[in-house]
Amino acid sequence: MKVFLLEHPRQIAPDRCNDIANTPLASSLITGCIAGLLNSMGHGIRIAEGFLDKLTYEDIYQQVTTFAPPVLGVHLIYNWENNRQLFSFLKQLKSEGLVRKIVGYGYYPTFAYQEIFKLCPEFDGLIIGEPEQTFAEWLETGVPVPGMAWVDAAGQVQMRCREVNRNLDALPDPIRSEAMMRMGEVNIEGSRGCYGSCTFCYINPYYGAGSCWRAKSPERVMQEIDRLIARHGPMKFYFTDPNFFGPGKQGQERALKLAAMLKQRKIRFGIEARVNDIHRDTIAALVDAGLEDLLIGLESGRDDSLQRLNKMTTVEQNEKALSILRVNGIEPNIGFIMFEPDSTLADIRTNFEFLKRNALLNNIFITANVLYHPQIILQGTKAYRDLQQEGRLTLKGSTYEGMTAFRVPEVACLAEIIGQITNYFFVSMDEVWQGKLQEPLNAVSLYAAVNQLLVNCFEENLSRLEGGESIDEAAAQVLIDEVKMKIKSVFDQFPKTPGSKCGLSFNQDKGCK
Ligand code: SF4
Repeated sequence: MKVFLLEHPRQIAPDRCNDIANTPLASSLITGCIAGLLNSMGHGIRIAEGFLDKLTYEDIYQQVTTFAPPVLGVHLIYNWENNRQLFSFLKQLKSEGLVRKIVGYGYYPTFAYQEIFKLCPEFDGLIIGEPEQTFAEWLETGVPVPGMAWVDAAGQVQMRCREVNRNLDALPDPIRSEAMMRMGEVNIEGSRGCYGSCTFCYINPYYGAGSCWRAKSPERVMQEIDRLIARHGPMKFYFTDPNFFGPGKQGQERALKLAAMLKQRKIRFGIEARVNDIHRDTIAALVDAGLEDLLIGLESGRDDSLQRLNKMTTVEQNEKALSILRVNGIEPNIGFIMFEPDSTLADIRTNFEFLKRNALLNNIFITANVLYHPQIILQGTKAYRDLQQEGRLTLKGSTYEGMTAFRVPEVACLAEIIGQITNYFFVSMDEVWQGKLQEPLNAVSLYAAVNQLLVNCFEENLSRLEGGESIDEAAAQVLIDEVKMKIKSVFDQFPKTPGSKCGLSFNQDKGCK
């Protein structure tokens, strides 16, 4: 059967440009994994990369018309505001008879399937959790199977869970689209799930009851890497595993085995990890094997907060991990939650001093991230449930993402100031990343100036609030605009690319252009 798999067009709302990704990195291979399994079963697959290829819905309409698939699978990514345009498009495809069945999959429908059925009754089913086997069984049987939600004949939403897949080695390689192969590094999956249970994370809830860290064997991972290298030549890989290391001694031994095998391939790669898994010998072996990039979830510089987040790590472990990584030449990317709903000014101060003490505020691209990140509260997480039970969760238009007021007003004030300023920085940078502005020769010193501006702004306003000074909305807006003007004056020194439409303005809501 012909199956069309859609990665739908996505937009990043301007006031979300400094928020973490709206779906985990592991999502990047979901469509490819489905395509790989269906292809191995003899189905004909077409993937449309609406986001990476910047396709319009008109483009996708043409592709669907040409391919004429009876079945459309949609990787549903939460779009912050809504997916109205996508849902209208699906309705059009169904009403014009261009597809017979539509099924959605991904993190968003796994948690918000009730909402999605209401918004888009065109879905014949929504897959809950890891999708490839569920999708395949549904195609074979034509009726809802375990691992799906659907609307029954009486109009009631039904859902059946599926057990997690414990034999990842048996899955075929994901099919990677041309757009994915153009990205500079190739995503690869070595494991699923995590042995942690952080309150803000929905990795394990996505996979469902019984989820834990499940690995592919090093041999299976190498076979896929070898096939990719044979087809495309040497390349850089990035492991999409939420936690590259398995638990304890066995996890370290597996990582050492992987390192030995990766070293023979002479490749470069990146991983994501927990601090308690950063050990000197293993990191040295991985770096020797080509490890270049590592994202580490520090989350906080305060033990109380780490406990509150159920991170099961300590500040001491955070600092030890940073030290081991740096000794081995890795300057990590950082996962950090500066503002939690229950943060106090003392928490924020401790976080700030932790970042300074550990030289994590020297690079604007890290500074702008770690100084702002608030905790995002997504459906499926313990934090979401707890806040809901406490009556503190506010839903705006979607059940998928909750909001809550900061418990401490001064923290809310600082978060608003820093949030608007860092957003303005990222929107300004977007002009550079899109090639509309060019980096001048002295870009490094200009970035350093913005970095200092941001650190000073944080320090000054935190100190004012700690000193009992109140900063009302109008005063906050004045100082936000002042800093934004200064950032603008830095970016004014970046030459415009001839022919591009560009121009930064600071006088906009939420600091965005
Ligand atoms: S360690 Fe990372 S992947 Fe694991 S539960 Fe915590 S945030 Fe999620």
